[in-house]
Formats: sequence, C-alpha cells, structure tokens
Amino acid sequence: MRISIDGDLCIGAGQCALTSPDFFTQDDDGFGTVVPGREDGAQGPLVREAARACPVQAITVEEREG
Ligand code: SF4
Repeated sequence: MRISIDGDLCIGAGQCALTSPDFFTQDDDGFGTVVPGREDGAQGPLVREAARACPVQAITVEEREG
C-alpha cells in the first residue's frame, strides 16, 4: 500500500498517528505526516483504520499489486 496525506485537508487532529504510529506521525505544527521512508510498503489493518479515523478524509491509501 502507498499512503499519502493531503496537507490542505489535514486539520491536525492526530487520529492517524494515534491509530497507526508505525506509519503516521505529526510534524512540528501538529499536522499529520507519513513516517519518513514509509510512504511505500505500508501494510496492516491499522493503516486502513487510520485512514478511516481521519475526520477530514485527508489520507489516501492506494493498493499496489506485488
Ligand atoms: S487524522 Fe487526518 S486530520 Fe488528523 S492529523 Fe491525521 S491526516 Fe491530519
């Protein structure tokens, strides 16, 4: 899976980092970011759960074959 966050939508609620701290963190201003180097190869149900938990649907999770 590949994760991306739309910084224009993110309101810094922090739900993503709470839900899936292996893949999401927050920058100095509190906005959600993907943990550096983990944009590709994300896996596990918590990634999808984090995307669902985002109150403004700022997180996109793309499926990748292989
Ligand atoms: S849950 Fe959504 S709004 Fe909150 S920090 Fe993460 S991306 Fe931003």
